[in-house]
Order: sequence, then C-alpha cells, then structure tokens
Amino acid sequence: MLHFDNRLLRELPGDADTDNRPRPVFGALWSPVSPTPVAAPRLLAWSSETADLLGLSERELTSPEWLAVLSGNGVLPGMSTYATCYGGHQFGAWAGQLGDGRAIFLGEAVAGGRRFELQLKGAGPTPYCRRADGRAVLRSSIREFLCSEAMHHLGVPTTRALSLVATGEAVTRDRFYDGHSADEPGAVVCRVAPSFLRFGHFELPARRGDTALLRQLIGFTLSRDFPEISGQPEERLARWFREVCERTARLVVHWTRVGFVHGVMNTDNMSVTGLSIDYGPCGWIDDFDPAWTPNATDARGRRYCFARQGAVARWNLERLADALSAIAPDPGVLNAGLEHYDAIYNGEFRRAFAAKFGFAQWRDDDAPLVEQAFDLLQKAAVDMTLFFRGLAAVDPLAPSMAPLGEAFCDEAKRQAHAAAFAAWLAQWCGRVRSDGEPDEGRQARMNAVNPRYVLRNYLAQEAIERTESGDPAAIHELLDVLRRPCADQPGKEHFAEKRPAWARHKPGCSMLSCSS
Ligand code: AMP
Ligand code: MG
Repeated sequence: MLHFDNRLLRELPGDADTDNRPRPVFGALWSPVSPTPVAAPRLLAWSSETADLLGLSERELTSPEWLAVLSGNGVLPGMSTYATCYGGHQFGAWAGQLGDGRAIFLGEAVAGGRRFELQLKGAGPTPYCRRADGRAVLRSSIREFLCSEAMHHLGVPTTRALSLVATGEAVTRDRFYDGHSADEPGAVVCRVAPSFLRFGHFELPARRGDTALLRQLIGFTLSRDFPEISGQPEERLARWFREVCERTARLVVHWTRVGFVHGVMNTDNMSVTGLSIDYGPCGWIDDFDPAWTPNATDARGRRYCFARQGAVARWNLERLADALSAIAPDPGVLNAGLEHYDAIYNGEFRRAFAAKFGFAQWRDDDAPLVEQAFDLLQKAAVDMTLFFRGLAAVDPLAPSMAPLGEAFCDEAKRQAHAAAFAAWLAQWCGRVRSDGEPDEGRQARMNAVNPRYVLRNYLAQEAIERTESGDPAAIHELLDVLRRPCADQPGKEHFAEKRPAWARHKPGCSMLSCSS
C-alpha cells in the first residue's frame, strides 16, 4: 500500500475555483481537478524499475484497483488530484500562463525514504488546457514511456514512466497540421519524479508581480526539493540558483553525450531539479548533424537543434534569473550562477567527450582533434552511436577504418571524405597510444560510456505501429534491449542498426510533429 503525503497541496496556495473550464488562475499554484474517466482502460506496458522505486509489486500494479488509478478512473486512499499553474517562454517569446493542461497529479508518494510525485498525462481537461482536450494519443504516449525509461538506463537524469494505459477511446488529431484530422487511439502515461517543478512555475508569479507567491514557492522548493541547501534567505536563493545552473549544465552534457535532442526546450519544459522532462518531438540523432532537430515545428529556426542545446539551456536559465531578480537583492549572485553554468558545462563536456573518445583524461590540446572529428562526422554523414562503438574497436597500433564501416550513412559522402577520415584516425591512434595504457582497458572504458542501443526514432515508430495493430509486446521487447544500452546483446543486433533507408523520410522516424 503506497503512502501519500501531499506537501505541495498542504503548503502552497490552491485555487478556490473548482471549475474545470480553461481560465487564468491567479494567486495559486495548483487547482483541484479530477481525471476524466475513460471507457475501456487496458494496461499496455509498465516499468518494473519504476514500480520498484515505489515499492509496488507486479501483482498490485496489474490489479483492477491500480488499473483504475493509472487510467484516471479512480483514486486510492491518500491520493489527491490536482493540476499546477505555470507559464513559460516558448520558442523565445513569453507565452503567459500555460500550466498542466493534460497532466493531473495523484499526489506525493513516500516510499523507501524518498518522495515521488505521480501524475497522469492525458487524463482529461484541466483549467490549464486552453483550447485543447486534455488527452494524449497512443503514439506519443508510447514514446514518452520508452524515452523516460531509456534515458534512465543511459544514466541521464529524467522523470520516469510507471505505466502506459490505452483508454479505449479515440482522440482526434490533425497529425501533420495539414487540415486533415483523424481519430487515433488515446492513452495515459503515469509519470513519476521527485519534483515536476519547472522554470515556468517561477516565471509566472514573477511576471505577474506576485512576489509573495514567488517567495512562497521558492521557500517550498528549497524545503522539499533542496533540503541540503541551508543558510540565510539571500544566501539560500543564491546557492539554489547556482545548483539549478549546475544540474542543468550536467543534464545538457548528458543529452549531448548520448546524442539526445529534446526538441522543445521551452522554459515550461525545463525542470528546476535538473531532470529531462516532457518527451514530445524529441529523439536521438542518427547521422551526426549538429543542426538536426527532431521537432518539425522547429525545422525553420532550428532553435532547439542538437548543437544549440547548451546555449538554449543558458538562455532559459537567464529567464529564470530574470524571474528571481524580482526578489534577489543582489543581481550579482544570479550572474555568478550563470557563470557557474558555463564552467560546469565546459568541464563536463570535456570530461564526457574525453571518455567517449577513449582518452585517459582531457588535455588542453585535445580540442582540435575532437573538433575535427565533429566536422568529419557531419560532412561524411556518420551515425554517432555506431561511430563511437566502432572507434573502441580500432587497434591504435594498426589503424583501420574497417570497424567504422557500418557507421557511414551515405556511400558518396564516405568516399568523398575517406582520406580525411583515415588521416584523422591516424592522429586519434597516436593520441590514445600516448596515454600509454593497455588497449583492453581503453576499449572496455569506451564501451562502458558509448551506448550500442539507443531509442532511435524508427525503432520507437516500429513499436508504435505494432502496438497500434494489437501487439503491445513490441514495447517491452524494445524496453528490454534499452535496459542495457552499453552491453553487447547477442540476438538483438537488429536493434543497434542505423536508420534504414525506408525510415529516412517516413513520419515518426526522423522528424516528429508536435501533435500529440
Ligand atoms: P508542450 O509544448 O507539449 O510541453 O505543451 C505546452 C502546453 O500545452 C502545456 O501547458 C501543456 O499542458 C499544454 N497541452 C499540450 N497538449 C495538450 C492537450 N492535448 N490538452 C491540454 N493541454 C495540452
Ligand atoms: Mg510541456
């Protein structure tokens, strides 16, 4: 039996209005709202690791009582349902109030000495749903479920997914934004994280000039989510912002090292606890293209492309700093936090890529070699994941391009850059030889940090299509492989293959629409 202790409800002001209709909400951080029941819920998938975090057995999770909870058809004792109020900058512009438009919290579970917020995404309208329906389609829910768990297994801080439930109801979406709406199966994902607080939760009261609410929210966040930060109020605020900057820097380097592109880094999708949050049109890069964005809506501006994530995260932190400046007596402490972001980002980036390239540690003169590699990977259209795995297999005493062969995505581009690549590889061999360590050690270290299996968009799309045609086992088959992303898994080689030609332009396999 899960124990609930709903601090956010208890300690932060709530909305007096209990009406579900879309509206602005002032002076409150949450609104009471019940999930809208669904017709024929069916548990399609769950994460045993996330269930373990909560101390839930498979028997409990698969019981009729929990199916009701996970679909929004019922609650258990101790649960309280609500949606929270936040704003945000979307694509660089202030968007005003947003809020949990289709995510409904079940409360805060306390398990194994830790606290977890549980929320149902796609559980029906809330006061924050604006003109939308509060629902989610199966395809985007499968992706959210798989991405959350894949990221966890890659060692990337992330919100988690407990379950995926098909609602048995249709959801209407204009999938390609081309005026053609169609019915699709609906679903609900139960997400789990210590905190779902976003930058936008702080921006909204600051923008509205409600400094009392902002102060209250900061006090709450410090007390619940950052109890280790002590001191006088001003000192705590400075140390907290510095910590948010540090966690955000570490997070973006994690994304980069595994080739993940978030796709919608709006400030309402940035967690103050440094977690990856809101898996929409996101994905793992196939061929190493710094300008690649998985978000079709971002195809023109490429604001959220692979190479810009570090800069955009800093921009987002600057917006958070703007919000905090309403109550920070000394703006210098906020600037210090941003500078700390730069320092951590640069240090972590070097550390992560030194490990990926197999260097014992980063040396100042490694930068040109790494920059050249990035340049070549792009020009020669090389699959990032396969490249680093292949590089580990190159013998530095006998340089050969053979282990890298699989990684090339375009034969003409491979040939055009073959000589430059061979020259680079010779330099790389010299670099790793200069570390003077036994080669088996280097290979094992590289394979421990360079995943072989990532959730390529075409793999997710295959699981979606199989599930839509009645075979949800596809989700667990894929999740099983993603549980050990760095291990060689005999018989599972096909999950490590680069994007096949048929998937290059197929919807869902490279770029994704925001429609979800
Ligand atoms: P996103 O860019 O997906 O993070 O969403 C931005 C905002 O739109 C958030 O406030 C979401 O809660 C809201 N939203 C997105 N889709 C829906 C939907 N189908 N129903 C209600 N609100 C939604
Ligand atoms: Mg969002």
